Amino acid sequence: MKKRIMTMIFAIYIIFNSFQFNTFASVDHKDRILFISSYNSSFPVFFQQIEGIKSVLTDKNSILDLEFMDSKRFYQEQNINNFYDLLNYKIKNSPEKYDAIMVGDDNAYDFAMKYQKELFNDIPIVFFGVNDIQKALNSKSKNLVTGVAEDVSARDTLSVATIINPKATNILAIGDSTETSIQDVKSFYSQKKYFPNLKFSDINLGEFTIDDFKNKLKNIDDNTIVIFIAAFRDLNGNPIDFETGVKLVYDNCKQPLFDLYLHGIGSGLLGGKVVSHTAQGKVGAQMVQKILTGTSVKDIPIIDKSPNKYIFDYNMLKKFDINQKLLPADSIILNKKVTFYDNYKNYILLLLIVFVIMMFCIVYLLRSIKIRKRAEKDLVEANVTLGSTYEELEVSSLQLKAQYEKIQIQDEKLVHVKESYRLICEASTGGTWDFDLLTNIRLFTDSWYTEYGFSKNDFLKIKNWVQHIHPHDKGIFLNYQRLIKETNHEKYSCEYRITMKNGEYRYFVEKCIVVRDDKGIIERIAGSHTDITARKLQDIKIRKLAYHDILTGLPNRAYLNKKLKIALLNCSKNSLCGAIIFIGIDNFSLINEYFGHETGDNVLIYISKILKETFEKSEKVFVSKVSGDEYVILIKELSDFDFVRNYIKRILKVFEKKLIIENNEFYITISMGIAIFPKDGDTVQRLLKNADTALHKAKELGKNCYEFFDEVMSDVIMNKILLQSSIRKALENNEFVLYYQPQIDVITGRLCGYEALIRWISPKYGFVQPDKFIKLAEENGTIVPLGRWVLKQACDFCNKINIKNEDKYVVSVNISPIEFMQYEFVDTVKDIINKSCVSPNLIEIEITETSLMESFDINIAKLNVLKEFGLSIAMDDFGTGYSSLKYLNLLPMNVLKIDKSFVDDIANNNKDKNFIDIIIIMLAHRMGLKVVAEGVETEIQRSVLTSQGCDKIQGYIFSKPLTEINAIKYKTNFTTKL
Ligand code: C2E
Repeated sequence: MKKRIMTMIFAIYIIFNSFQFNTFASVDHKDRILFISSYNSSFPVFFQQIEGIKSVLTDKNSILDLEFMDSKRFYQEQNINNFYDLLNYKIKNSPEKYDAIMVGDDNAYDFAMKYQKELFNDIPIVFFGVNDIQKALNSKSKNLVTGVAEDVSARDTLSVATIINPKATNILAIGDSTETSIQDVKSFYSQKKYFPNLKFSDINLGEFTIDDFKNKLKNIDDNTIVIFIAAFRDLNGNPIDFETGVKLVYDNCKQPLFDLYLHGIGSGLLGGKVVSHTAQGKVGAQMVQKILTGTSVKDIPIIDKSPNKYIFDYNMLKKFDINQKLLPADSIILNKKVTFYDNYKNYILLLLIVFVIMMFCIVYLLRSIKIRKRAEKDLVEANVTLGSTYEELEVSSLQLKAQYEKIQIQDEKLVHVKESYRLICEASTGGTWDFDLLTNIRLFTDSWYTEYGFSKNDFLKIKNWVQHIHPHDKGIFLNYQRLIKETNHEKYSCEYRITMKNGEYRYFVEKCIVVRDDKGIIERIAGSHTDITARKLQDIKIRKLAYHDILTGLPNRAYLNKKLKIALLNCSKNSLCGAIIFIGIDNFSLINEYFGHETGDNVLIYISKILKETFEKSEKVFVSKVSGDEYVILIKELSDFDFVRNYIKRILKVFEKKLIIENNEFYITISMGIAIFPKDGDTVQRLLKNADTALHKAKELGKNCYEFFDEVMSDVIMNKILLQSSIRKALENNEFVLYYQPQIDVITGRLCGYEALIRWISPKYGFVQPDKFIKLAEENGTIVPLGRWVLKQACDFCNKINIKNEDKYVVSVNISPIEFMQYEFVDTVKDIINKSCVSPNLIEIEITETSLMESFDINIAKLNVLKEFGLSIAMDDFGTGYSSLKYLNLLPMNVLKIDKSFVDDIANNNKDKNFIDIIIIMLAHRMGLKVVAEGVETEIQRSVLTSQGCDKIQGYIFSKPLTEINAIKYKTNFTTKL
């Protein structure tokens, strides 16, 4: 509410004020003033005067009427009168009276004074621009008149002129005949007393024509200071306007034109201390204002000193090359070409300062921005780095946390582990120790002392560890210590024996871990001692087993290889170094067969023992057992070949004596193969092979002899070995076939059976006869499976040949002594015959006399079993071996086969032999044996054998051995052979 009332009061106040203003404005009184100028409006002074007046008496509060006397141009009386009339008319006919009259310059003053009463009665008159000072001052006595005298500053102007032109000797004033000019010239001359060194003169245009005036001007010399006062009227009274007058003087005068009035500066005058009409007008107007506002005219004194100023024209200063420094300090320079810089110097400076400040600020800001940007960038980067670092830290923190937790867990574990470690150390079978080389402190666990029977007081002894080591192992231990020092490994181990407190040697394995510094210098060694005595002894045992024959305890082939290798290494190429003697026990298998393996083993143990005893004293001889019944004696450092023969003799001597084992007497013979090294081989394998070859050769030569190896032997044996290998493969490849040679019953002349004879159709060797491979097959054992195959084939053939019930064709099969000696021979034969479903009495086995003799009792037992089984037993090649009729009587035989050599004797008509044949056949018949003659080729042989009572004949006379097909054909086509 209060706010509303206040607003209303304010509005009313505004409206009231507006109203009041408008009321006064409509009745506003303006003072009416008349200004009378001595000149016309084109005179330059006028504008300055009016400017001064208007600056005080503005249009707002006064009305200024103007009247021009134009007395410069029209100085005649008529003009003054006309002007009076005009003015009089105007004043009389004007409804309004003037409040004040202002008059400018002398002519207007004179007019006003002359007609004051008629025209300006009771109206205050203010004058200015009156040059005649006295006249002006005299106005004091007049009613309602006051004003400002126009006092030119001639002295000051002349002083400046002499400063500018110090060389001047003359001063010249240029005037005319106008009232103002005359006064001013008068004033000029009044200065003479102040410038005694200068000659004062003047040129009055009023006394010359224009042309003369010009000439006068042109003749002014440079030592003259020229002061322009006026040039308005010439000799002829022709008026010249101010501008034209100034131009006239300026164009013809070479000197600078000093001046006493402001007008003309800018039109060619230089200047000086000049009268300012503006200032005079202003002072006059101020007087009028005072009067109009109530001040009495009498109280306003006349001013005789006009307010003049030093004013100069810039262009003239330049033209006359006047140094501005010569001018008074308060001088005003007009018309100076003000450059933009001059005009706005301060602004520019300010702007410059602002600009500089701004530039500085900009530069500073830019720099700050740059720094800030860089800082920002750095900050961003730092932030990113910090971010990633933070993340890393966070991850690290998490990891650390996890690790800390792990460590905590591990700490707990460590406590357990430490405890476990302590317990393990204490409970371990060995002992652990720790040796700090920096502090030289050795620690041994309690268990170590307990384990090895030492007390802690024995520490001093332990220090001299090497003393306790077995003499044989000291070298090993010192080498182990050297390795630790000289190499840079972490772990080492060494096995050695050490004496216990009780003096017993025990095997230790010492394992250690070595801690080194950066330079590899050992700082600490920690390790363990483990008692490995049991294992070591076991190892020794195992090694012994690995290198010794279990049965006899002699070094085995592996040991021999080792020894031989060393011997060969120590052997120079061209010298005689040593020999190996390969010993094979002749027919050792027979001992096994006859007396059993146990006896055989005992024989071997005994032979080993005597060989060992014979040579054990000689360090140069090494006896080894390389297979079941084979020995190798290595003789090292052989200096002479005869030494080998000596050794051979010593060996042979060993076997000269009979051996008595388990109450059995044995005459053991041996065969030997000898190889000399390096001549016969420089490698273990080659040397052993060659000695073995020589042994083979010795056996081939009938055993119980020795052979030295030579290269030819090697070839033969090589071929033999190749052939043996081929035989083995031939059986797998079905390269063998059976041929069948018919046997004819002598009495009936009928075919009674066949002998199965093996043939080898080899892709490599062609058609091979049995005498070329049977022996080899016997030697390499192939004869056993081969014999089984033959028997099986023969049974099959027997089945094929005996088709009818009445057929009783007997098929005889050769049995090798090796086959026969087989423990399971009997069972094998029975099994094959049973499986082939052939009648056993249609199968005959032929066994050689020799093989029967070698394992007599056993063979008899075997033969009895087979005979009981139903087989026919034939003794083959009778007459070539023991041919002992005594033995024959003991043998369970069915057939006696007379060897071809006996049959051949028939042809030779050897009567003695024939006699023996007759006796044999007779005795055989008495023993119930059938007699078969083989190899019968001729009719004579057949007839002789027939006449001698031979039962059957087999030979080329009837047929050569036939293939199975041909044999069957033979039977089919057979006709009685009588
Ligand atoms: P063996 O048992 O004395 O065989 C008789 C040998 O005399 C056979 O030689 C046979 O072909 C040959 N022969 C027979 N009649 C005459 C003749 O009128 N004149 C001549 N010059 N020879 C005649 P083969 O077949 O060469 O056999 C030789 C030896 O090979 C056999 O002698 C036998 O000991 C052995 N043999 C043959 N086959 C086998 C077999 O399958 N097993 C075994 N272990 N040895 C066999």
